[in-house]
Amino acid sequence: MGSIEENCPHLGGLQAVVTSGGFRCPTCEAHLDQVGVERWVRAAEEARDEAYSAVEGDEEFAQIVLDECQREVYRRRKVLYGLRSVPPAVATRPEMILVSYDFVDDSYECRIFYKEPRPAWGLERISVEADLDPILALRSHSDPNVRLASGKVEEFHVLRRRLVEQDELPMLRRVFYQNEL
Ligand SMILES: [Zn+2]
Repeated sequence: MGSIEENCPHLGGLQAVVTSGGFRCPTCEAHLDQVGVERWVRAAEEARDEAYSAVEGDEEFAQIVLDECQREVYRRRKVLYGLRSVPPAVATRPEMILVSYDFVDDSYECRIFYKEPRPAWGLERISVEADLDPILALRSHSDPNVRLASGKVEEFHVLRRRLVEQDELPMLRRVFYQNEL
């Protein structure tokens, strides 16, 4: 019964996705939009309500089951509220951005590090094709930290290109610290 994503409790929480504006479970890779996350919360509420109506006989055991169901409802709501409560505009600024070049995919992987707990909307990892157009496209992203990171990826990309043209060995990675952001 149910798909993999329905069976996965998304215990690691959900992360915002750069391309779709939705959310992703790092464990099962399921993609959910806002409605999908709300449905996921509702599923736990329904499971709890069913458990209530099924309370018969062993009361002690039923109570344990109910507590567990209720805990799961709270956990999912917390994930949902976390995703809602931090609008992109007030996201924490990153402490450090690491851009590295991936030979296999000819792409850049960009990791954004936060000093404070990462804002729920804030992305930690962006992968972008090693070409100027897709990099520039990130400038209009809704997350200000992605826009910030796109500037650093662009800087890195332009420098790598120049070194390649000069037959120099281009560097594979570059760290941008807070004073450069
Ligand atoms: Zn999952």
